[in-house]
Amino acid sequence: MSGRLTVVGLGPGNPDQTTPEVARAIAGASDFYGYAPYLDRLSLRPDQTRHASDNREELDRSTAALNRACQGGNVCVVSGGDPGVFAMAAAICEAVENGPDAWRQVEISVLPGITAMLAVAARIGAPLGHDFCVISLSDNLKPWELIEKRLAAAAEAGFVMAFYNPISRARPWQLGKAFDCLRAVLPGDTVVVFGRAAGRPDERIEITDLAAADPAKADMATCIIVGSPETRSIARPGLPPLVYTPRFAKGASR
Ligand code: SAH
Repeated sequence: MSGRLTVVGLGPGNPDQTTPEVARAIAGASDFYGYAPYLDRLSLRPDQTRHASDNREELDRSTAALNRACQGGNVCVVSGGDPGVFAMAAAICEAVENGPDAWRQVEISVLPGITAMLAVAARIGAPLGHDFCVISLSDNLKPWELIEKRLAAAAEAGFVMAFYNPISRARPWQLGKAFDCLRAVLPGDTVVVFGRAAGRPDERIEITDLAAADPAKADMATCIIVGSPETRSIARPGLPPLVYTPRFAKGASR
């Protein structure tokens, strides 16, 4: 007997930014799998079971969740932000592709959530208003050389960039190296935004430029937005600046 498996994204941290669709799926599920801090954000009833795991255990977590669904559970796999952005939806798909045939019978739904970069961007204006790309700076799942290649290509192509997983205790130098790569291509006055813990009580959003960007300003809860050469920060008396990327201007070189 096969149950259901729903992969949900809780949004960046503010409960108002969890969609009603996700809230309904959570209310209807029996078993919850996810990284402990995400499960901590749920108010589960006594009849709902919590299966917390460590951050890096995505494959084990997927296996346990799919097995539980095969036994008839109504399973919820929980991510922060959006489950399809550097999160559990891809891990579940990968497990199904490589796993036993029974897992292909499980009814799987992926419910979207507000991803970190959108929450950060919304706080300051519209830096992602035109073409942008998203790169995880974690070299746990891909080689660092590939990250450098993508950074250079994105900067050359004039994309605004959002960086996830910028730094951690195990990955202390990668963000500094990424800024150095970008400085070789982009002007020093390119806008850089450090958006930390967007939507949570300890939120901190800082706007600086590429020349001054200091990796020590980032931690694991920070999403960094690096502008294109067109991105600007509009000063406003008595109010925080508005950061936005205008549409392509005729005659511009990029
Ligand atoms: N699925 C998540 C991303 C998981 S990867 C999402 O869609 O948001 C983890 C990275 O997400 C962190 O290292 C950080 O870069 C970013 N992040 C997650 N929550 C954040 C928040 N509230 N504010 C800023 N960045 C956040």
